[in-house]
Amino acid sequence: MKNIKDFNLEELKKELIQMNEKPFRAEQIFRWLYQERVEDFTSMTNLSLELRKKLEENFKIGKVEILEKQKSKDGTIKYLFDLLDGNAIETVVMEYKYGKTICVSSQVGCKMGCKFCASTGIAFIRNLSNGEIVEQILAAEKDENCKISNVVFMGIGEPLDNYENVIKAIRQINHPKGLNIGARHISISTSGIVPKIYDLANENIQATLSISLHSSNDEIRSSLMPINQKYPIAELMKACKYYIEKTNRRISFEYALAKDENDNLKAAEELSKLLKGMLCHVNLIPINPIENGKYVKSTNENIIKFRDYLNAKGIVATIRRELGSDIDAACGQLRRKNL
Ligand code: SAH
Repeated sequence: MKNIKDFNLEELKKELIQMNEKPFRAEQIFRWLYQERVEDFTSMTNLSLELRKKLEENFKIGKVEILEKQKSKDGTIKYLFDLLDGNAIETVVMEYKYGKTICVSSQVGCKMGCKFCASTGIAFIRNLSNGEIVEQILAAEKDENCKISNVVFMGIGEPLDNYENVIKAIRQINHPKGLNIGARHISISTSGIVPKIYDLANENIQATLSISLHSSNDEIRSSLMPINQKYPIAELMKACKYYIEKTNRRISFEYALAKDENDNLKAAEELSKLLKGMLCHVNLIPINPIENGKYVKSTNENIIKFRDYLNAKGIVATIRRELGSDIDAACGQLRRKNL
């Protein structure tokens, strides 16, 4: 059955017209779903009994169920959500000074095959629908009785490999009658699917784009991230420059530091040359260990040296705070599960 949360306002209006109902009912339904957060059609008391019945016959109100919830020493929460089709995904909620950030998954598994990331270790199963992406936020807010202020597409999956649904989810998250979270509070992270970066630039969404770069050397980057063989660094940078020009938004480059792989000063020098003059920011991530992974975290000393080198060259670089690593909730540690 169709999940009503997969429909945006315009699409729902069309559905209602087809059901011989007034399109403004769609706004009432949206209010029930995204403000009141009801979980059944019976509770939508300003709709006629007849319409509620029709809705029930034609739609389900999609949901995800909490299978497991873990809390880290630092307050980070990791959910294992049941998608109710035999698949489960992980979602993380982090606490920052400025509010709560949720890290959502966009796919069940991932096709990218990055060597340092646990999300890709097991097969890709399917894309999440836009409703399932949004539902992760609704379920976490309900469970914690809180309001989430920031959304990052940095969970399991490659968001630009599920482009249509991710864009639709972002619009729903951002919509005043949806979750009403400002676009500037939404970040999309990509391993670098170049044609989709151009598409995203043309969407006119004020979200932040993060690029998982991890090396400015094609040979090293290809060894870490197979996608680099298809879209090498020069092409990726061209797309990033187009994105900046088109949106006037700063790009955030993510760089996970692995000991003796990409963490020396020569790498920092190459990186500073690559990014020179670009409207950007570098997010250094001490690489998180994964099961059977061969990469080891850089030493604190090297991480600080790397940052200081970039800063000295005029490139703004910060070290990402490690959250949730004690419950495998940190970057690159999320996995899909079979039920
Ligand atoms: N597929 C998207 C979304 C995942 S985001 C992407 O690649 O950007 C998760 C971020 O964590 C990415 O920057 C990813 O490269 C990074 N990451 C993956 N594994 C990691 C690990 N073991 N340690 C630190 N960061 C990691």
